[in-house]
Amino acid sequence: MTSQPRRFDYLSWPKAEAAAKKHGSTLVWPFGACEQHGPHLPLATDNLFAETILKKVLDRLPNEFPIWSLPSQPIGFSPEHVSFPGTISVSSNLLLDLVLEVGQQASSFGFRRLLLFNAHGGQIGLLQAAARQLRLKSPTMAVLPCFLWSGISQLEELIPVKERAEGLHAGLAETSLMMSLEPDLVGSLRPLDGEHFSKESVASPPEGWSLEGAAPWAWLTKDLSVSGVIGDSRSSNQSLGNHLQELLIDHWARLLTNLMESEWPPVT
Ligand SMILES: [Zn+2]
Repeated sequence: MTSQPRRFDYLSWPKAEAAAKKHGSTLVWPFGACEQHGPHLPLATDNLFAETILKKVLDRLPNEFPIWSLPSQPIGFSPEHVSFPGTISVSSNLLLDLVLEVGQQASSFGFRRLLLFNAHGGQIGLLQAAARQLRLKSPTMAVLPCFLWSGISQLEELIPVKERAEGLHAGLAETSLMMSLEPDLVGSLRPLDGEHFSKESVASPPEGWSLEGAAPWAWLTKDLSVSGVIGDSRSSNQSLGNHLQELLIDHWARLLTNLMESEWPPVT
């Protein structure tokens, strides 16, 4: 028994053919990035989150669900981080074309749903645009662009309000989750560059404006931080990371169960 029983690319071609033709067949494609995550987290942070959380989610689903994962896409669209060494970013066109080409082939096998399971906040909009274009080109397959951290209301109980607004990168949540998943990959430095941002009067947003959210700004990391951290990771800890991990796995296992037990979305 392989340790990755739901990997599509571990199937033989006859099994892959049969898998794709099952009623409600669903493929999940994890998306990460290779980008700086401060002086204390690895470049692969987002990729590792997408891959590991998805695997744990799929392990919880009933065997009979026709759902498989693709290998993850470990290099993404990260222009905001390219001034930091180690960041490797592909162009928006390349990532969009990749989604279209892979997606159209998945659809041609007979898959009915393709879920993009993305853990990099900087490519949410691009993957949504790619998903809509793919939907147009592959009319019989639904495309669902999802972001790992979105829609989890219980985060409000675990992450303080300031950090929820400003802890966008390598802050409390990401650092704690990595301490829970791969503690050996977490370094000891804990810079506080959120302060750097709020102390600079030129960088303080006027009322109603913010980094993200309703009235956002297409910031580059170097605008906000000299260390690459946007947020405050000083109180990160493994117990918080364990909670976050459970929340994420519960949330996505529930959503995927609901999806697999349904005929959603309607594809005409
Ligand atoms: Zn990240």
